[in-house]
Amino acid sequence: SPAIPDEFEAARVEAERLTADIERYRTAYYSEATSLVSDAEYDELFHRLEAIERAFPELAGQDSPTQEVGAAVVSAGFPEHEHAERMLSLDNVFSIDEFREWAEKARAAAGRPVRWLTELKIDGLAISLAYRNGVLETATTRGDGRVGEDITENVDLIPVIPRELRGEGVPEFFEARGEVFLSTADFEALNERQHELQEAFAAEQRAKGVPEERISIRYPEFANARNTAAGSLRQRAEKKSAAELELMRDRLGRLSLYVHGIGAWQHPAFENQSDAYALLAQWGLPVSPHSRVFDEIDEVVAFIEDRGEHRHDVEHEIDGIVVKIDEFDLHAELGETSRAPRWAIAYKYPPEEVHTKLLDIRVGV
Ligand code: NAD
Repeated sequence: SPAIPDEFEAARVEAERLTADIERYRTAYYSEATSLVSDAEYDELFHRLEAIERAFPELAGQDSPTQEVGAAVVSAGFPEHEHAERMLSLDNVFSIDEFREWAEKARAAAGRPVRWLTELKIDGLAISLAYRNGVLETATTRGDGRVGEDITENVDLIPVIPRELRGEGVPEFFEARGEVFLSTADFEALNERQHELQEAFAAEQRAKGVPEERISIRYPEFANARNTAAGSLRQRAEKKSAAELELMRDRLGRLSLYVHGIGAWQHPAFENQSDAYALLAQWGLPVSPHSRVFDEIDEVVAFIEDRGEHRHDVEHEIDGIVVKIDEFDLHAELGETSRAPRWAIAYKYPPEEVHTKLLDIRVGV
Protein backbone atom coordinates (compact mmCIF):
# COMPACT_ATOMS: atom_id res chain seq x y z
CA SER A 1 0.00 0.00 0.00
CA PRO A 2 1.15 3.61 -0.60
CA ALA A 3 3.38 5.38 1.95
CA ILE A 4 1.77 7.04 4.94
CA PRO A 5 1.27 10.76 4.14
CA ASP A 6 3.95 13.14 5.53
CA GLU A 7 1.55 16.02 5.89
CA PHE A 8 -0.81 16.11 8.84
CA GLU A 9 -3.75 17.39 6.81
CA ALA A 10 -3.50 14.61 4.22
CA ALA A 11 -3.20 12.04 7.02
CA ARG A 12 -6.23 13.48 8.79
CA VAL A 13 -8.36 13.33 5.66
CA GLU A 14 -7.33 9.73 4.96
CA ALA A 15 -7.91 8.67 8.58
CA GLU A 16 -11.37 10.19 8.47
CA ARG A 17 -12.22 8.30 5.31
CA LEU A 18 -10.86 5.03 6.67
CA THR A 19 -12.80 5.48 9.91
CA ALA A 20 -16.07 6.07 8.06
CA ASP A 21 -15.54 2.96 5.91
CA ILE A 22 -14.54 0.78 8.88
CA GLU A 23 -17.57 1.95 10.89
CA ARG A 24 -19.89 1.09 8.02
CA TYR A 25 -18.39 -2.40 7.59
CA ARG A 26 -18.45 -3.04 11.32
CA THR A 27 -22.11 -2.13 11.69
CA ALA A 28 -23.01 -4.49 8.86
CA TYR A 29 -20.85 -7.28 10.30
CA TYR A 30 -21.81 -7.09 13.97
CA SER A 31 -25.41 -5.92 13.72
CA GLU A 32 -26.60 -7.43 10.46
CA ALA A 33 -24.29 -10.46 10.13
CA THR A 34 -23.33 -9.29 6.64
CA SER A 35 -19.87 -8.78 5.09
CA LEU A 36 -19.70 -5.85 2.68
CA VAL A 37 -15.99 -6.58 2.07
CA SER A 38 -13.75 -9.60 2.71
CA ASP A 39 -12.07 -9.97 6.11
CA ALA A 40 -8.68 -9.41 4.46
CA GLU A 41 -9.84 -6.12 2.92
CA TYR A 42 -11.26 -5.05 6.27
CA ASP A 43 -8.02 -5.95 8.08
CA GLU A 44 -6.00 -3.95 5.54
CA LEU A 45 -8.06 -0.79 6.15
CA PHE A 46 -7.79 -1.31 9.91
CA HIS A 47 -4.02 -1.81 9.71
CA ARG A 48 -3.60 1.28 7.55
CA LEU A 49 -5.54 3.37 10.06
CA GLU A 50 -3.33 2.02 12.87
CA ALA A 51 -0.20 2.95 10.89
CA ILE A 52 -1.48 6.51 10.28
CA GLU A 53 -2.30 6.87 13.97
CA ARG A 54 1.19 5.66 14.90
CA ALA A 55 2.68 8.37 12.65
CA PHE A 56 0.24 11.03 13.94
CA PRO A 57 -0.80 9.98 17.46
CA GLU A 58 -3.07 13.04 17.81
CA LEU A 59 -5.39 11.33 15.31
CA ALA A 60 -5.92 8.31 17.59
CA GLY A 61 -8.92 9.70 19.47
CA GLN A 62 -10.78 7.58 21.98
CA ASP A 63 -13.58 7.01 19.50
CA SER A 64 -11.26 5.68 16.79
CA PRO A 65 -12.18 2.09 15.81
CA THR A 66 -8.58 1.14 16.70
CA GLN A 67 -9.36 1.94 20.34
CA GLU A 68 -12.67 0.11 20.52
CA VAL A 69 -13.97 -3.45 20.80
CA GLY A 70 -16.51 -4.50 18.17
CA ALA A 71 -19.42 -2.14 17.83
CA ALA A 72 -22.10 -0.79 20.14
CA VAL A 73 -25.28 -2.83 20.18
CA VAL A 74 -27.70 -1.92 17.42
CA SER A 75 -30.61 -3.68 18.94
CA ALA A 76 -32.44 -6.45 17.20
CA GLY A 77 -34.84 -6.20 20.15
CA PHE A 78 -32.89 -8.13 22.79
CA PRO A 79 -32.46 -6.56 26.23
CA GLU A 80 -29.04 -5.03 26.88
CA HIS A 81 -26.80 -6.66 29.45
CA GLU A 82 -23.64 -5.32 31.05
CA HIS A 83 -20.77 -7.80 31.36
CA ALA A 84 -19.46 -8.26 34.90
CA GLU A 85 -15.98 -8.00 33.38
CA ARG A 86 -15.21 -6.31 30.06
CA MET A 87 -14.84 -8.46 26.93
CA LEU A 88 -11.88 -7.57 24.75
CA SER A 89 -10.76 -8.12 21.20
CA LEU A 90 -7.27 -9.29 20.16
CA ASP A 91 -4.40 -7.51 18.50
CA ASN A 92 -3.37 -9.03 15.19
CA VAL A 93 -0.12 -9.89 13.45
CA PHE A 94 0.08 -10.94 9.82
CA SER A 95 3.55 -12.48 9.50
CA ILE A 96 5.82 -14.83 11.44
CA ASP A 97 8.36 -12.01 11.88
CA GLU A 98 5.72 -9.80 13.44
CA PHE A 99 4.64 -12.70 15.66
CA ARG A 100 8.23 -13.36 16.84
CA GLU A 101 8.66 -9.67 17.60
CA TRP A 102 5.48 -9.68 19.70
CA ALA A 103 6.46 -12.88 21.54
CA GLU A 104 9.98 -11.66 22.36
CA LYS A 105 8.58 -8.39 23.69
CA ALA A 106 5.93 -10.16 25.78
CA ARG A 107 8.56 -12.49 27.22
CA ALA A 108 10.87 -9.57 28.00
CA ALA A 109 7.99 -7.76 29.74
CA ALA A 110 7.27 -10.92 31.75
CA GLY A 111 10.91 -11.03 32.80
CA ARG A 112 11.00 -14.84 32.90
CA PRO A 113 10.37 -17.81 30.62
CA VAL A 114 6.68 -18.21 29.81
CA ARG A 115 4.50 -20.99 28.42
CA TRP A 116 2.55 -20.32 25.24
CA LEU A 117 -1.03 -21.56 25.10
CA THR A 118 -1.63 -21.94 21.37
CA GLU A 119 -5.16 -22.25 20.00
CA LEU A 120 -7.02 -22.25 16.73
CA LYS A 121 -8.75 -18.95 16.04
CA ILE A 122 -12.33 -19.97 15.44
CA ASP A 123 -14.21 -17.87 12.89
CA GLY A 124 -17.42 -17.46 14.84
CA LEU A 125 -18.73 -14.92 17.30
CA ALA A 126 -17.84 -14.22 20.88
CA ILE A 127 -20.25 -14.98 23.69
CA SER A 128 -20.19 -14.60 27.47
CA LEU A 129 -21.97 -17.20 29.61
CA ALA A 130 -22.65 -16.14 33.20
CA TYR A 131 -23.32 -18.99 35.63
CA ARG A 132 -24.72 -18.40 39.13
CA ASN A 133 -24.62 -21.34 41.51
CA GLY A 134 -23.90 -23.53 38.53
CA VAL A 135 -26.97 -22.44 36.55
CA LEU A 136 -26.80 -20.42 33.33
CA GLU A 137 -28.05 -16.95 34.24
CA THR A 138 -27.35 -14.92 31.10
CA ALA A 139 -25.79 -15.46 27.69
CA THR A 140 -24.60 -12.21 26.15
CA THR A 141 -23.00 -11.15 22.87
CA ARG A 142 -19.76 -9.14 23.10
CA GLY A 143 -21.33 -5.86 21.87
CA ASP A 144 -18.88 -3.02 22.51
CA GLY A 145 -17.14 -5.06 25.20
CA ARG A 146 -19.03 -3.45 28.09
CA VAL A 147 -22.63 -4.01 27.09
CA GLY A 148 -23.93 -6.74 24.80
CA GLU A 149 -27.28 -8.25 23.90
CA ASP A 150 -28.92 -10.70 26.28
CA ILE A 151 -29.60 -13.65 24.00
CA THR A 152 -30.28 -16.18 26.77
CA GLU A 153 -33.63 -17.25 25.27
CA ASN A 154 -31.90 -18.31 22.05
CA VAL A 155 -28.98 -19.95 23.82
CA ASP A 156 -31.54 -22.07 25.69
CA LEU A 157 -32.17 -23.73 22.32
CA ILE A 158 -28.51 -24.67 21.74
CA PRO A 159 -28.07 -28.18 23.16
CA VAL A 160 -24.23 -28.07 23.44
CA ILE A 161 -24.37 -25.12 25.85
CA PRO A 162 -25.11 -26.50 29.34
CA ARG A 163 -27.92 -24.89 31.34
CA GLU A 164 -26.47 -26.44 34.45
CA LEU A 165 -22.91 -27.36 35.37
CA ARG A 166 -22.01 -30.56 37.16
CA GLY A 167 -19.09 -31.55 39.37
CA GLU A 168 -17.00 -30.18 42.20
CA GLY A 169 -15.82 -26.64 42.83
CA VAL A 170 -18.20 -24.60 40.64
CA PRO A 171 -17.92 -21.02 42.00
CA GLU A 172 -20.92 -19.00 43.11
CA PHE A 173 -20.62 -16.76 40.07
CA PHE A 174 -18.37 -16.69 37.03
CA GLU A 175 -18.33 -15.81 33.35
CA ALA A 176 -17.07 -18.21 30.69
CA ARG A 177 -16.10 -16.67 27.35
CA GLY A 178 -16.17 -18.58 24.13
CA GLU A 179 -16.90 -18.71 20.45
CA VAL A 180 -20.20 -19.81 18.96
CA PHE A 181 -19.71 -21.27 15.50
CA LEU A 182 -21.29 -23.43 12.85
CA SER A 183 -19.20 -26.45 11.89
CA THR A 184 -18.40 -26.89 8.23
CA ALA A 185 -20.53 -30.06 8.14
CA ASP A 186 -23.53 -28.27 9.68
CA PHE A 187 -23.08 -25.29 7.38
CA GLU A 188 -23.22 -27.61 4.39
CA ALA A 189 -26.22 -29.51 5.79
CA LEU A 190 -28.03 -26.23 6.39
CA ASN A 191 -27.45 -25.10 2.82
CA GLU A 192 -28.55 -28.49 1.55
CA ARG A 193 -31.79 -28.02 3.44
CA GLN A 194 -32.25 -24.46 2.12
CA HIS A 195 -31.84 -25.89 -1.37
CA GLU A 196 -34.48 -28.57 -0.73
CA LEU A 197 -36.91 -26.05 0.77
CA GLN A 198 -36.42 -23.78 -2.24
CA GLU A 199 -37.02 -26.69 -4.64
CA ALA A 200 -40.24 -27.63 -2.83
CA PHE A 201 -41.38 -23.99 -2.82
CA ALA A 202 -40.63 -23.64 -6.55
CA ALA A 203 -42.54 -26.87 -7.32
CA GLU A 204 -45.53 -25.52 -5.40
CA GLN A 205 -45.40 -22.26 -7.36
CA ARG A 206 -45.14 -24.10 -10.67
CA ALA A 207 -48.16 -26.22 -9.76
CA LYS A 208 -50.07 -22.98 -9.19
CA GLY A 209 -49.13 -21.86 -12.70
CA VAL A 210 -46.55 -19.21 -11.69
CA PRO A 211 -44.16 -18.71 -14.64
CA GLU A 212 -40.56 -19.78 -14.00
CA GLU A 213 -39.08 -16.25 -14.10
CA ARG A 214 -41.54 -15.04 -11.45
CA ILE A 215 -40.69 -17.70 -8.86
CA SER A 216 -38.89 -15.87 -6.08
CA ILE A 217 -36.02 -17.09 -3.90
CA ARG A 218 -37.60 -17.70 -0.53
CA TYR A 219 -34.84 -19.92 0.88
CA PRO A 220 -31.50 -18.44 -0.24
CA GLU A 221 -28.29 -20.38 0.43
CA PHE A 222 -26.06 -18.94 3.13
CA ALA A 223 -22.80 -17.27 2.10
CA ASN A 224 -20.45 -18.28 4.91
CA ALA A 225 -20.48 -20.15 8.21
CA ARG A 226 -19.52 -17.20 10.45
CA ASN A 227 -22.27 -14.88 9.30
CA THR A 228 -24.79 -17.73 9.33
CA ALA A 229 -23.91 -18.50 12.95
CA ALA A 230 -24.16 -14.81 13.87
CA GLY A 231 -27.50 -14.45 12.08
CA SER A 232 -28.85 -17.64 13.69
CA LEU A 233 -27.93 -16.50 17.18
CA ARG A 234 -29.65 -13.13 16.82
CA GLN A 235 -32.97 -14.37 15.35
CA ARG A 236 -36.14 -13.14 17.07
CA ALA A 237 -38.85 -15.66 17.90
CA GLU A 238 -41.49 -12.94 17.96
CA LYS A 239 -43.95 -12.76 15.10
CA LYS A 240 -42.67 -16.01 13.59
CA SER A 241 -45.11 -18.59 12.23
CA ALA A 242 -44.95 -22.16 13.58
CA ALA A 243 -43.04 -23.27 10.47
CA GLU A 244 -40.55 -20.38 10.79
CA LEU A 245 -40.05 -21.19 14.47
CA GLU A 246 -39.22 -24.74 13.52
CA LEU A 247 -36.53 -23.50 11.12
CA MET A 248 -35.17 -21.12 13.75
CA ARG A 249 -34.89 -23.95 16.26
CA ASP A 250 -33.15 -26.11 13.70
CA ARG A 251 -30.58 -23.38 12.97
CA LEU A 252 -29.91 -22.78 16.66
CA GLY A 253 -29.71 -26.51 17.34
CA ARG A 254 -26.81 -26.83 14.92
CA LEU A 255 -24.60 -24.22 16.60
CA SER A 256 -21.46 -25.29 18.46
CA LEU A 257 -19.35 -23.67 21.17
CA TYR A 258 -15.77 -23.80 22.37
CA VAL A 259 -14.91 -21.92 25.54
CA HIS A 260 -11.65 -19.92 25.18
CA GLY A 261 -11.43 -17.68 28.22
CA ILE A 262 -12.90 -16.51 31.47
CA GLY A 263 -14.35 -13.19 32.58
CA ALA A 264 -15.36 -12.34 36.14
CA TRP A 265 -14.25 -15.05 38.57
CA GLN A 266 -13.34 -14.45 42.19
CA HIS A 267 -10.31 -16.27 43.58
CA PRO A 268 -9.85 -18.82 40.80
CA ALA A 269 -8.16 -21.95 42.09
CA PHE A 270 -5.81 -22.44 39.14
CA GLU A 271 -2.63 -20.82 37.91
CA ASN A 272 -2.84 -21.32 34.17
CA GLN A 273 -5.47 -20.72 31.53
CA SER A 274 -4.97 -24.30 30.29
CA ASP A 275 -5.89 -25.54 33.81
CA ALA A 276 -9.04 -23.41 33.69
CA TYR A 277 -10.02 -25.16 30.45
CA ALA A 278 -9.58 -28.57 32.10
CA LEU A 279 -11.87 -27.50 34.93
CA LEU A 280 -14.51 -25.99 32.63
CA ALA A 281 -14.49 -29.19 30.59
CA GLN A 282 -15.06 -31.25 33.76
CA TRP A 283 -18.13 -29.14 34.51
CA GLY A 284 -19.56 -29.82 31.06
CA LEU A 285 -18.48 -26.80 29.01
CA PRO A 286 -17.06 -27.70 25.58
CA VAL A 287 -13.40 -26.73 25.10
CA SER A 288 -11.38 -27.10 21.93
CA PRO A 289 -9.42 -30.34 21.51
CA HIS A 290 -6.93 -28.47 19.32
CA SER A 291 -5.18 -26.29 21.94
CA ARG A 292 -1.52 -26.94 22.86
CA VAL A 293 0.94 -25.54 25.39
CA PHE A 294 4.55 -24.90 24.27
CA ASP A 295 7.68 -23.68 26.03
CA GLU A 296 9.48 -22.39 22.95
CA ILE A 297 8.54 -19.70 20.43
CA ASP A 298 9.93 -21.96 17.67
CA GLU A 299 7.41 -24.65 18.63
CA VAL A 300 4.60 -22.12 18.36
CA VAL A 301 5.84 -21.07 14.92
CA ALA A 302 5.92 -24.72 13.81
CA PHE A 303 2.32 -25.14 15.03
CA ILE A 304 1.21 -22.00 13.15
CA GLU A 305 2.84 -23.26 9.96
CA ASP A 306 1.54 -26.81 10.29
CA ARG A 307 -2.02 -25.66 11.00
CA GLY A 308 -1.84 -23.24 8.08
CA GLU A 309 -1.17 -26.17 5.78
CA HIS A 310 -4.06 -28.19 7.24
CA ARG A 311 -6.60 -25.45 7.70
CA HIS A 312 -9.46 -27.51 6.34
CA ASP A 313 -8.79 -30.64 8.39
CA VAL A 314 -10.59 -29.04 11.33
CA GLU A 315 -14.35 -29.27 11.94
CA HIS A 316 -14.78 -25.48 11.81
CA GLU A 317 -13.46 -22.48 9.86
CA ILE A 318 -10.31 -20.93 11.27
CA ASP A 319 -8.88 -17.54 10.39
CA GLY A 320 -5.68 -17.76 12.37
CA ILE A 321 -3.97 -18.91 15.53
CA VAL A 322 -4.35 -17.28 18.94
CA VAL A 323 -1.27 -17.37 21.16
CA LYS A 324 -1.72 -16.59 24.85
CA ILE A 325 0.61 -16.53 27.81
CA ASP A 326 -0.67 -19.43 29.90
CA GLU A 327 0.13 -18.06 33.38
CA PHE A 328 -2.65 -15.99 34.98
CA ASP A 329 -0.35 -13.93 37.22
CA LEU A 330 1.26 -12.60 34.03
CA HIS A 331 -2.14 -11.64 32.61
CA ALA A 332 -2.63 -9.33 35.57
CA GLU A 333 0.94 -8.04 35.31
CA LEU A 334 0.91 -7.31 31.57
CA GLY A 335 -2.63 -5.90 31.58
CA GLU A 336 -4.54 -4.68 28.55
CA THR A 337 -5.02 -1.73 26.19
CA SER A 338 -8.48 -0.18 25.69
CA ARG A 339 -9.08 -2.87 23.08
CA ALA A 340 -7.03 -5.99 23.71
CA PRO A 341 -4.97 -7.90 26.28
CA ARG A 342 -1.18 -7.51 26.09
CA TRP A 343 -0.69 -11.20 26.93
CA ALA A 344 -2.33 -12.57 23.77
CA ILE A 345 -2.09 -12.10 20.01
CA ALA A 346 -3.94 -13.36 16.95
CA TYR A 347 -1.81 -14.50 14.03
CA LYS A 348 -4.01 -14.15 10.94
CA TYR A 349 -3.46 -16.44 7.96
CA PRO A 350 -3.26 -14.77 4.56
CA PRO A 351 -6.53 -14.96 2.63
CA GLU A 352 -6.80 -18.17 0.67
CA GLU A 353 -6.22 -18.07 -3.04
CA VAL A 354 -9.30 -18.58 -5.10
CA HIS A 355 -9.03 -21.91 -6.86
CA THR A 356 -9.39 -21.63 -10.59
CA LYS A 357 -9.79 -24.27 -13.23
CA LEU A 358 -6.36 -23.33 -14.61
CA LEU A 359 -4.53 -26.23 -13.00
CA ASP A 360 -7.05 -28.78 -14.26
CA ILE A 361 -6.74 -27.43 -17.77
CA ARG A 362 -2.93 -27.67 -17.67
CA VAL A 363 -3.12 -31.22 -16.38
CA GLY A 364 -5.62 -31.96 -19.11
CA VAL A 365 -3.21 -30.73 -21.80
P1 NAD B 1 -10.73 -10.68 15.95
O1 NAD B 1 -11.73 -11.57 15.32
O2 NAD B 1 -9.54 -10.35 15.16
O3 NAD B 1 -10.21 -11.29 17.32
C1 NAD B 1 -10.90 -11.28 18.55
C2 NAD B 1 -11.91 -12.35 18.68
O4 NAD B 1 -11.43 -13.62 18.28
C3 NAD B 1 -12.35 -12.60 20.10
O5 NAD B 1 -13.26 -11.65 20.54
C4 NAD B 1 -12.96 -13.99 20.00
O6 NAD B 1 -14.33 -13.87 19.76
C5 NAD B 1 -12.33 -14.59 18.78
N1 NAD B 1 -11.64 -15.86 19.00
C6 NAD B 1 -11.73 -16.95 18.19
N2 NAD B 1 -11.00 -17.95 18.65
C7 NAD B 1 -10.43 -17.54 19.81
C8 NAD B 1 -9.58 -18.15 20.75
N3 NAD B 1 -9.14 -19.40 20.60
N4 NAD B 1 -9.19 -17.43 21.81
C9 NAD B 1 -9.60 -16.15 21.97
N5 NAD B 1 -10.42 -15.51 21.11
C10 NAD B 1 -10.83 -16.19 20.03
O7 NAD B 1 -11.34 -9.36 16.39
P2 NAD B 1 -12.80 -8.79 16.36
O8 NAD B 1 -12.67 -7.50 17.03
O9 NAD B 1 -13.79 -9.75 16.86
O10 NAD B 1 -13.15 -8.60 14.86
C11 NAD B 1 -12.32 -8.10 13.91
C12 NAD B 1 -12.29 -9.08 12.78
O11 NAD B 1 -13.61 -9.39 12.35
C13 NAD B 1 -11.57 -8.53 11.60
O12 NAD B 1 -10.20 -8.79 11.66
C14 NAD B 1 -12.26 -9.24 10.46
O13 NAD B 1 -11.68 -10.51 10.28
C15 NAD B 1 -13.66 -9.40 10.96
N6 NAD B 1 -14.53 -8.32 10.48
C16 NAD B 1 -14.88 -8.35 9.19
C17 NAD B 1 -15.68 -7.35 8.66
C18 NAD B 1 -16.06 -7.41 7.21
O14 NAD B 1 -16.74 -6.50 6.75
N7 NAD B 1 -15.66 -8.43 6.48
C19 NAD B 1 -16.12 -6.29 9.46
C20 NAD B 1 -15.74 -6.29 10.80
C21 NAD B 1 -14.94 -7.30 11.30
